[in-house]
Amino acid sequence: MKFTYQVQDFTVTVSTEEYIRRYSNSECFIKYCKECRNYGKVWVCPPFSHDTMAELRQYANLFLVATKIIPDEKKIPFSEVNRFFRPERLRIEKKLRDMEITYRGKAFAYAGSCLYCPEGTCSRLDNQPCRHPELVRPSLESYGFDLGKTASELFGFPLLWSNDGYLPEYLTLICGLFHNAENICKNKLKI
Ligand code: SF4
Repeated sequence: MKFTYQVQDFTVTVSTEEYIRRYSNSECFIKYCKECRNYGKVWVCPPFSHDTMAELRQYANLFLVATKIIPDEKKIPFSEVNRFFRPERLRIEKKLRDMEITYRGKAFAYAGSCLYCPEGTCSRLDNQPCRHPELVRPSLESYGFDLGKTASELFGFPLLWSNDGYLPEYLTLICGLFHNAENICKNKLKI
């Protein structure tokens, strides 16, 4: 069965210092990460071996993108969520990687399973380098940022969760690009 949906991309720019000051909460989120089965087992997940905030402070600004995915039908089982997430993750991640090159920035993608190797086969398990570093980017969550607060305060709508086994009214993906460019061309997001 093919599910259809509407998609909307929203963007906002915030300074790196402000984003770190208002939305970083590593001490809280690392506790959740440690409970996840991917913790320490996938290269895009914590713990990281470098100073993540020092890395981000090399860039003046963060271009944030919130992608709202609105299913056309109601009562879709939550187990189908990746039928909605996956194509949008692939679309935006590709765009962000292109923008990373154009603007010499650092792109962030989405939390969840890595899309580029079968589940449970990350080379981190064997302490070997990532097989697809040209494709993979970490998520903002993995660096300890509060995306619930990001959505509600910077984009003006809350993240919705499923509490009845069905998809909520809409799904949201939040990603971004840290950069030093004067302007980011939003049209580069379009397919
Ligand atoms: S692409 Fe493969 S090796 Fe790299 S982080 Fe993802 S699962 Fe791990």
